[in-house]
Parts: sequence; structure tokens; C-alpha cells
Amino acid sequence: MNYLFNTSILSSYLKEHKIPSFRLKQIQQAINKEAIIDIDEITTLSKDLRDQLKQDFVINDFKLKDKVEGPETTKFLFELADGKIIETVIMYHWHVKPEYEDDIKQRKILRSRTNHDISPETHKLNRITICISSQVWCAVWCIFCVTWKLWFKKNLPWQEIILQILYANNYIKQKFGKKEDGTRNRVRNVVFMGMGEPLLNYDEMVGSIKYMQDQHGLGLSKRHITISTSGVADKIKQLIDDKIDVRLALSLHAPNQELRAELIPMIARRWDIDELMETIDYYTKATGNRLFYEYIMIKDKTDSEDIWHQLWKLLKKRNAHVNLIPYNENPAMPDLETSEYDMIIAFKHTVESHWVTVTVRDTLWRDVKGACGQLWYEVIMKRRIEDMENEL
Ligand code: SAH
Ligand code: SF4
Repeated sequence: MNYLFNTSILSSYLKEHKIPSFRLKQIQQAINKEAIIDIDEITTLSKDLRDQLKQDFVINDFKLKDKVEGPETTKFLFELADGKIIETVIMYHWHVKPEYEDDIKQRKILRSRTNHDISPETHKLNRITICISSQVWCAVWCIFCVTWKLWFKKNLPWQEIILQILYANNYIKQKFGKKEDGTRNRVRNVVFMGMGEPLLNYDEMVGSIKYMQDQHGLGLSKRHITISTSGVADKIKQLIDDKIDVRLALSLHAPNQELRAELIPMIARRWDIDELMETIDYYTKATGNRLFYEYIMIKDKTDSEDIWHQLWKLLKKRNAHVNLIPYNENPAMPDLETSEYDMIIAFKHTVESHWVTVTVRDTLWRDVKGACGQLWYEVIMKRRIEDMENEL
């Protein structure tokens, strides 16, 4: 089966079957603008034409295995047509309505630093971000991440990367309906921060980005697409050569070679931190883009005072934006702990005082089983334990 949003295949099909070419625009409009993922719902096409297309095409062939809904996120577990599993997370960014700002601030202080209620009465949906997977699962062995513990299975083709967004837009349409002005909410930002290392699936990742940016595709702004990489330096260079103009986030996680090799052994041994930072400088010079540096906060590992100083020294002349990510504790790595909240804040203040912008990733990522792969990891482990118990 082909995907109906695969424009080159659909164009040839329409020509071959002598179907007028304006149908292509109608289909693109239905899928990308009206967020339709079922051919039967494209009512601008005749019933006969829909039936004909259904013989050779699908829009959605994902099965929803599980869904976890929180006020700020919806997490999907999808089963692909070949039976493999991926995770996708939609993140809702809410703004407090101006008339409630003082009230909410007060409630936040009283209850906890991070936990507060979100309701349509007090909050307004500001924008929606999607965190997509690029591989099933991952071949890079970062010691803090569950994704590689599931082992690498395959690279996602660009269509399965895009379908995560089409599915999400359809879900958002049903969840929120129309806005007051008659328009709809839809995904505005895309981050490649789900399962997998996107730069190790380079060609398909680029194919999906082209679809995201195409005006007849999803029409997303280049500033709203971010690739996150553990540091595949060769491919960062290739992004420049191929003029792939999106934002880049580097999962740095350590300011020196020794610590980086401990946390991200496979990548750090292949490209040491000096070579990586040279590549980053080359990238920022060539593109003018400001880089995001992701930095994981693991107690007694990445958060010591000595390390703070190494980090600002490394980044102070690099126009950097550092995002501190509290380590998401998970059952695969029982020895690692999240840094204390006060430590994270002290870390932030020190690095910031040296002209490096620092933000702390908030609860958004943590309320539905946190980091990428974690939900599925737990399902698999539970199943393995059940199988073992059945054998006993
Ligand atoms: N493979 C890419 C993108 C996917 S991972 C990369 O590594 O950048 C997305 C982000 O989640 C990365 O910054 C990664 O380091 C981080 N991450 C993975 N496991 C985590 C955990 N247990 N706690 C916090 N962040 C984690
Ligand atoms: Fe792969 Fe990224 Fe997880 Fe590392 S952090 S194992 S690169 S998904």
C-alpha cells in the first residue's frame, strides 16, 4: 500500500488513471490543512474516486496501542504496519489568562514549585509541539536513556515520520474542535526528540523535513523544526552542505571528554569533544543559527561545582542556549538519580552569570512517563517478567 500523502506516487497514479490533476490539490488540502487521515472522509472527492483510491492507498496505517493523557501532554504508543512500536508525544503549551496571573502565581507558591492546575477557565492554549521518533529504537548507548536498552530495530521511512504529525493533527482536531475565530489548533513546532538518533537516519529525516516545510505539505516554518542529536559530527557537517535549514539541539550533557565518554560512549569515542565543538563552530558560522545545548542533570555525575565552571568556560563565547534537563529516573538505570532542585537552580545561576542563556526543562516532559521510550520499556519489561513467570 502507498501513502496518499506521497505526492510523487500520487501524481503518477492520477496521470496513469487519467484523473484530473486538480484532485491532487484537493487531497493535499484535506490531509495537510483539514487533518483528515481516513480516505472516506475526503468528501471533496466522489465516492467512486474514494473507493478507487482505497484500493491502492492509505493515509494512516498506525494502530494506537496505548495513549496516556495529561493536562500538558498526550503520549501515543503506535504499532506500525510491520508490528514495530514507536512513541510520539504531543505537548500543549498553555498561557495563564492575564486576569488570573496573580492568582495562579500565588497558588503555585503555596502548593509546589512545579505542580499547578490547568483549566480552560484560567488558561488559554498557546501553541502545540510534537516530539517525534525517527528510529525504532536506537543504536546509541547513552547510559541514562531507555531507548537503546530496547535495541535498534529499524530506521523509519519519511512517511512514518510524517504520519506521526498527521495523526497528531487529527487527534488535536477532535480534542479541541474549532477556535473562536473558526480556525483550528494544529502542531506548530516539531522536535526530533523521541526515539532514535535522527542524524543516523539522515536521508529519511531530510525527506520528512522537506514535507514539513513544503507549502503544499505541512507548511511549517524552518524556525519551528528542531533536530536533536547526540553529536554525530559528520552529519552535522552534511546538514550545512545540503542546506537543511532547521534548528539544531546538541545533547552535550558533559563539558569534558572523560564524562561525555562515560555518558555517551559510542558517539564520544568516535568524535571527541574537541572535534565535536569544532564542527559546531563551523555549523554556527555557516548558518548563523544559535545552538541549543541539552544538558542532563544527574546527581553527583553531571552537577558538581567543578563541572559548572567547565561548562560556562566551554560555552561562553559560543552564543549558546543551555537547556538543563532534570534526569528522568527510570527502571532501566536504578543507580542514577535526578539532581536536587536547589542544585539545578544553583547550576543555572552560575552558568548564567557568564553570559550563557540557561533554561530548566519543566514538568511538561515528565507528567506522562517522562523521557522517550520509557512507557514502552515498562510494557516490554512487564511482558518479559510475565512470560518468565508463566514458564516457572
Ligand atoms: N537521539 C537524540 C534525540 C532523542 S533523545 C538525542 O540524543 O539528542 C531526546 C533528549 O532526551 C536527548 O537530549 C536525550 O539526551 C534526553 N534523554 C534521554 N533519556 C533521558 C532521561 N532518562 N532523562 C532525561 N533526558 C533524557
Ligand atoms: Fe539514542 Fe538519544 Fe537515547 Fe542516546 S539519548 S540512546 S542517542 S535516543
